[in-house]
Amino acid sequence: MDANEATTLTCYRHADMLTSLRCNRCGNPICPKCAVRTPVGFRCPDCVRTQQNRFYTGGKLDYLIAVTVALPLSFIAGFIFTFIVARIGFFSWLIAFLVAPLTGSLIAEAVWRAVGRRRSRYLGTVVMACLIVAVLPFVGLILLSGNFLGLVVPGILLFLGSGAIMARLR
Ligand SMILES: [Zn+2]
Ligand SMILES: [Zn+2]
Repeated sequence: MDANEATTLTCYRHADMLTSLRCNRCGNPICPKCAVRTPVGFRCPDCVRTQQNRFYTGGKLDYLIAVTVALPLSFIAGFIFTFIVARIGFFSWLIAFLVAPLTGSLIAEAVWRAVGRRRSRYLGTVVMACLIVAVLPFVGLILLSGNFLGLVVPGILLFLGSGAIMARLR
């Protein structure tokens, strides 16, 4: 591009914005507001979205697979935490702290394998929702029993487990 062109380009999204910047993939003129800085240079929002969609290789079926795998596993985890870990006694909370992230990672790993290692934008969120839904009945049971301190162990599972799931299925 020559110096003259630099002043006559207008952003392809904002007709009133003069710019000298072009997307380095498709060549669209982009104003500084639209330009997205990537490791390979400035890109237009459309190219960035295309790139992201290529990154997410999973289909809608993957969400169904994720629920099918994560829900029963989360239910088992909820059962174990509520009826075994919480009843160990003095070390319950400590054990819950150590085992909850592992449990989350395990569920995430099982889902990750079941979907054939394909990435989906909301996979982590869906699996996390499964964990919450599966543990809720146990939380309900504890609330009914009036043992509010008993909420700590399933609570640790929810918080640390969710964190591990989101970290693994980002
Ligand atoms: Zn572009
Ligand atoms: Zn613009």
